[in-house]
Amino acid sequence: MATPALTTQIQHRTPKGKFENEPFTDFSHGKHTNDMKAALSWVSDQLGREYPLVLGGERVRASATFTSVNPAKPAEVIGVHQAGGVTEANQAVEAALKSFESWKFAPLEERVSLLLRTAEIIKQRKFEFCAWLTYEVGKNWAEADADVAECIDFLDFYAREALRLAGSQTPIQFPGERDELKYIPLGVGAVIPPWNFPLAIMAGMTAAAIVTGNTVVVKPSPDAPTIAARFLDVLEEAGMPPGVVNLLQGDGPNCGNALVEHPKVRFIAFTGSRPVGLEIHEKAAKPRAGQIWIKRTILELGGKDATIVAADADVNAAVDGVIAAAFGFSGQKCSAGSRAIIEDSIYDVFVEKLRDGLEAISVSDPVTNPRMGPVINAAAHARVLRYIEAGKAEGRLVAGGHAVETESGGYYIEPTVFIDVDPKAKLAQEEIFGPVLAVMRVKSFDEALAVANGTEFGLTGAVYSTAPENLDRARREFHVGNLYLNRKCTGAMVGAHPFGGFNMSGTDSKAGGPEYLLHFTQAKTVAERLI
Ligand code: NAD
Repeated sequence: MATPALTTQIQHRTPKGKFENEPFTDFSHGKHTNDMKAALSWVSDQLGREYPLVLGGERVRASATFTSVNPAKPAEVIGVHQAGGVTEANQAVEAALKSFESWKFAPLEERVSLLLRTAEIIKQRKFEFCAWLTYEVGKNWAEADADVAECIDFLDFYAREALRLAGSQTPIQFPGERDELKYIPLGVGAVIPPWNFPLAIMAGMTAAAIVTGNTVVVKPSPDAPTIAARFLDVLEEAGMPPGVVNLLQGDGPNCGNALVEHPKVRFIAFTGSRPVGLEIHEKAAKPRAGQIWIKRTILELGGKDATIVAADADVNAAVDGVIAAAFGFSGQKCSAGSRAIIEDSIYDVFVEKLRDGLEAISVSDPVTNPRMGPVINAAAHARVLRYIEAGKAEGRLVAGGHAVETESGGYYIEPTVFIDVDPKAKLAQEEIFGPVLAVMRVKSFDEALAVANGTEFGLTGAVYSTAPENLDRARREFHVGNLYLNRKCTGAMVGAHPFGGFNMSGTDSKAGGPEYLLHFTQAKTVAERLI
């Protein structure tokens, strides 16, 4: 069968040099501060626009819309979006199925070039994307910059990985045969990202899927739809043929679920909470009328990540690491260090230094670049405050504990610390996803490891210790997908720290690692007898 012609030609590109992470922006540099302020001002003029769905390259409107708002100023509308439902989900899958017929045969260089060109454009418009992240999800400048840098890294890294995968061979050539191993795409995928890394995670799952020849329907979080719409514009500018990535907006239970249950969806790449991930896992397992495959799910879920501080640790470094991991982006990271497990002999000193350290944390509108901004929405605000209230019976509140009231009605909460928390308490077991840290006292490093491993999660963890034997034990016994020694438990770098968790934290797909693209492919062997 002849390869159908692609409708758009992408100028071919190849990766330059070896992979290097996109450098973070130094905002103490006057030029960068000015660039960020200019971008914030430019984006502020774009707020409130209406965005269509993009299905098969067509702009589509739904019968209803919803708004995305600034969590620092809920009266400020960031974007008006189409509330897609089952009808639009079906249309999106049809569009993706149609384009799959050509995209699956597109030359690898074409797919790789699309990612590299997209990365180039985002690099050129870095401050603009940072500003969208600040307005739509409340990231301060450095957190926004890290999200954009990770997005660029994913695009570049997966482009290179696709080239590497295409060069793989069977380990053995059977005598008298030519044996091949090819990684072919799966089909149409549903990409369902969370709101907290609305650029990097959304773009990363999408890029991995399309560079391996799949086509997708992306259903962003209703809390971050505008960033996804802006990313789709960049893909189109980079030359993406219509229908390779389809943008569907809408809620999870109705719109997202329609994708999960669709018989023509071959795989679901999901990053989000444990309850939703498990629901998707269960629903995807049930074959629907007309479905001829077992759906694949790639599920990256929540965490209750712990930092162990051993008696011999550098306490100042540990305090800095715990504060950064617990309160960076208001604790709204899957890797947030929401538990600190401290050995008895340094417990009091640690708590004192921790309280001192919290004084430097300013909480206000991220446009002005404070250490901490708001939590994402009213429901999250109420949920975190409920945990704080209930936590008063589970531990001793020594810092924070209140909402921060402002005229703008932003969803602010003080950085909050409970000490003397029982390891079995809800504060120490459940993902709160807000600026709340539970501190626990342990008698030994043995006990510290047992407490650290004593939840149903297993995403990230950190250990501060100067004793090599403690670090070696942690390497063997701390059961997490991403372990950090003498550094904070957030901030995974593409390539260096492939990311994914154990137990209820997910399927351990290791985003940004050498096996990640395999999740989006199926391997076909061809053995030809030489005659
Ligand atoms: P969420 O589970 O509420 O939503 C995630 C996505 O799923 C959204 O797009 C949502 O609209 C959609 N959705 C909701 N219900 C659905 C349903 N029934 N069917 C289909 N789709 C549905 O999570 P969130 O609040 O957006 O993100 C925060 C969570 O994500 C936290 O638990 C955090 O730990 C986790 N997270 C994990 C990682 C990781 O790599 N492990 C990274 C970032 C965030």
